Amino acid sequence: MVRELSHYVAGRRIGGTSGRYSDVFDPCEGKVQARVPLASREEVQNAVAAAEKAQPEWGAMNPQRRGRILLKFVDLVNQNLDELATLLSSEHGKTLADSKGDIQRGIEVVEFAAGAPHLMKGEFSEAGRDIDVHSLRQPLGVVAGITPFNFPAMIPLWKSGPALAAGNAFILKPSERDPSVPLRLAELYSEAGVPDGVFNVINGDKEAVDALLEDPRVKAIGFVGSTPIAQYIYATAAARGKRAQCFGGAKNHMVIMPDADLDMAADALIGAGYGSAGERCMAISVAVPVGEETANMLVAKLQDRIKGLKVGHSLAKDSDFGPVVAPSAKDRIEGYIRSGVEEGATLLADGRGLTVEGYDDGFWLGPTLFDHVTKDMKIYQEEIFGPVLSVLRATDYDEALRLCSEHEFGNGVAIFTRDGDAARDFASRVEVGMVGINVPIPVPIAYYTFGGWKASGFGDLNQHGADAFRFYTKTKTVTTRWPSGIRQGASFVMPEGS
Ligand code: NAD
Repeated sequence: MVRELSHYVAGRRIGGTSGRYSDVFDPCEGKVQARVPLASREEVQNAVAAAEKAQPEWGAMNPQRRGRILLKFVDLVNQNLDELATLLSSEHGKTLADSKGDIQRGIEVVEFAAGAPHLMKGEFSEAGRDIDVHSLRQPLGVVAGITPFNFPAMIPLWKSGPALAAGNAFILKPSERDPSVPLRLAELYSEAGVPDGVFNVINGDKEAVDALLEDPRVKAIGFVGSTPIAQYIYATAAARGKRAQCFGGAKNHMVIMPDADLDMAADALIGAGYGSAGERCMAISVAVPVGEETANMLVAKLQDRIKGLKVGHSLAKDSDFGPVVAPSAKDRIEGYIRSGVEEGATLLADGRGLTVEGYDDGFWLGPTLFDHVTKDMKIYQEEIFGPVLSVLRATDYDEALRLCSEHEFGNGVAIFTRDGDAARDFASRVEVGMVGINVPIPVPIAYYTFGGWKASGFGDLNQHGADAFRFYTKTKTVTTRWPSGIRQGASFVMPEGS
């Protein structure tokens, strides 16, 4: 039975009226399990109207009370963790443990955002004997988040937690591939006490996104997804006078220095390269061993470990990773594997043709390893977003650093070494937004900010941490003179500090 999903507007689920739908797969079974309505412009406008109506009261609420509601929401998410994670795995295909991590990293940001009273504090200066200046942070009004398939809980929570805590009303346009968790989160926000209309979910595709971009009532757009769409949304939102922060694709390198603990590095590469079938924006997709000896030893260790990996059903306890999200994703990744072979890379492990007993139609792809990859190959230049790891051998540290810095993308990067000098130099000079030292997936904790450089991020503020409150508030600066009774007469010169 194919379930029919909905939107969530003004505190309730509502069916789609556009007559357009998108299929939601069960990636393990390889079957369509639901269809999600794709909103028309009018449906988006109705959701914006509901948000605009609800926002003033929510924005005027004492921020500590808003924070309390968000903490109640965090409790509810924890109470429903198993159900949410199972739902997430069933549409995305990642393992249950990984789905729990997806949710957990999301609610950590909501917990942090509950500190809004502190994060929204303005500044105050006594600027002269009778002059004071202070600043306020006020909500923007209605804001929207457009999010990708690969973290259907974490990224909607990264966007909505701070936005709501700051007093905005929120419209989420989640990925059409796995919309069920965002819809459940909407119900839990309502149950926690978020007023109707303050958090809404509109499902859809380009038509819904364009309706959000065109609507002057939407003041800011936070986007996460692939780079071409990030660029389009950033440019269109900016041209319409909206705030925008748009995070795009990635090609994350890991440099392995000759002095590194190679077992530790190999374990890290296996987890960061193949975990979640490589469908993470912080996945490592390029290993850069420094020196031939390091490379030979590392590659041997990777091959050994790959033999022991278990690809299986996302709910099976012993699966290391599950299927990819959709047949189109599988075709795309297989196309990259073909291209790597054609361009002359050495295919050491081939994930194509994998079958999993009992799930003949699942979108399976096994761990794939290429050695002797070069800079000019498509598998190096482009984001694959699948369980494909490329080894590009560097002759020395400088070449390794240059590779990481010169790549078009600049999301995450890691170095494995025991040498503090090399680690410090790398962290300081590499042209990438998030750096790990002996940490393969350096996703910053909630009270730091998350964001890539170059083609991985457009806009000048990061996600979560203090930046989120800068993004979701506007600053007002008030200049006051006391006592107000002093009469100085009209002045025709520009007021200045003296
Ligand atoms: P995607 O770009 O296909 O979709 C992202 C969102 O944009 C979805 O909500 C989708 O419905 C919408 N969208 C798709 N096509 C559109 C169009 N033509 N016009 C307007 N909106 C459109 O990305 P995805 O496949 O869902 O996610 C994977 C991508 O996201 C990868 O490139 C990955 O690196 C990236 N990602 C980046 C980060 C980060 O923080 N930098 C985090 C997670 C994922």
